[in-house]
Amino acid sequence: MAKKVVILGAGYAGLVCALELNKLTTAQEAEIILVNKHEYHQLVTQLHEPAVGAKEEKDVTISINSILGAKKIKFVKDVVVSIDKTAKEVTLESGKLSYDYLVIALGSETEYFGIPGLKEYSYTLKSVNQANRIREHIEQCFQTYNQDKKDSKLTFVVGGAGFTGIELVGELADMLPQLAQKYNVPKEKVKLLNVEAAPMILPGFDEGLVAHAKQSLEGRGVKFIIGTPVVQVEPGIVHLKTGDTIPTDTMIWTGGVRGIPIVAESGFETEPRGRAKVDEYMRALGEEDVWIIGDSCFVLSPNGRPYPPTAQISTQMGENAAVNIYASMKHVKKEAFAPVLLGAVASLGRKNAIGSLGKKMKATGWLAYRVKDASKYRYLAKIGALLKSK
Ligand SMILES: Cc1cc2nc3c(=O)[nH]c(=O)nc-3n(C[C@H](O)[C@H](O)[C@H](O)COP(=O)(O)OP(=O)(O)OC[C@H]3O[C@@H](n4cnc5c(N)ncnc54)[C@H](O)[C@@H]3O)c2cc1C
Repeated sequence: MAKKVVILGAGYAGLVCALELNKLTTAQEAEIILVNKHEYHQLVTQLHEPAVGAKEEKDVTISINSILGAKKIKFVKDVVVSIDKTAKEVTLESGKLSYDYLVIALGSETEYFGIPGLKEYSYTLKSVNQANRIREHIEQCFQTYNQDKKDSKLTFVVGGAGFTGIELVGELADMLPQLAQKYNVPKEKVKLLNVEAAPMILPGFDEGLVAHAKQSLEGRGVKFIIGTPVVQVEPGIVHLKTGDTIPTDTMIWTGGVRGIPIVAESGFETEPRGRAKVDEYMRALGEEDVWIIGDSCFVLSPNGRPYPPTAQISTQMGENAAVNIYASMKHVKKEAFAPVLLGAVASLGRKNAIGSLGKKMKATGWLAYRVKDASKYRYLAKIGALLKSK
């Protein structure tokens, strides 16, 4: 009889896992059920673009049913509420699902580090809906500025200078002057600030590339406030550890992620930031039939540092989990997770980016931007290739 494999989350990790498992198994071997709270798959790595109106929602979402077509993967649009690993059962908002094998790929949520007011009074950028909210809010700030001339409406603060924060700052640096022109607002009144607690921006990137990024963004009016933690946020005001305050109607927080609470609440072992501990085969620690992949888990790389929460790593975890679920079904040797790291590219707005491939190859400017843009197509081609099989 076919084994029932339930995959929770159709993001980078869950979708690739489902498609890879579909490729490996026959309908007699596996019944694959993919659960996701939206009917679409989101290209999360592009969200900074719709957040400023540079792209539309349709450019960063793909209908899951249109991806799966007639494949033997059953899609269930529902919200996961809890997991009972003893009963091998998942509770959804509208019912229950039993499983033989479970894959948890529910992504991450925003980490607020307990900073008072941050959760209540900031925007976040982790979904298409949140990107839409940011775009509508920014547009409204410009639309209404000439009514009351409140400067806080034209002061935009991005908290966090990692990948997400810097890519968003780059888009804003290009789009805010265009909005000023559209709404007849004085350009010199518009302020764009990036606040970061760590001593530098873009941790993990080569120093020369970071310098290029900083210079490019400063050249477009971005003010960096580095090595300065945010300590409180109130409506209309951001407080910094230095005692300084920033009057602003727009605080967008990209300062960190933590695991999705369902994982710890369901009794899986987690590290302090709520990400699941897994074994070398991506199974939840101490579990034979539960895999936890993507941003929901925590894996140390050979250099002793955790792999960063990226789409690049998440898709490879999805592939590895599929291979190991199949190995479990067939009682054959499993494969330890050993990702291939291609490098990283961060966009700096519409025409610029920084990127590295391995230790030696580095690129900046338009060329790097094209590579970043192509990464979306590389990912879509990968999904396409998986779809062609079976
Ligand atoms: C703006 C931005 C830019 C980025 N740029 C890059 C980049 O250039 N390169 C890179 O490698 N990484 C980048 N990242 C990081 C990357 O997007 C994440 O690491 C990746 O999305 C994680 O994949 P995942 O499958 O674990 O989670 P996700 O892609 O978040 O997928 C999780 C899925 O689970 C669903 N879900 C969640 N909770 C529930 C529930 N309770 N019930 C049902 N469904 C649920 C969600 O709807 C979603 O479909 C970026 C992130 C952001 C925010």
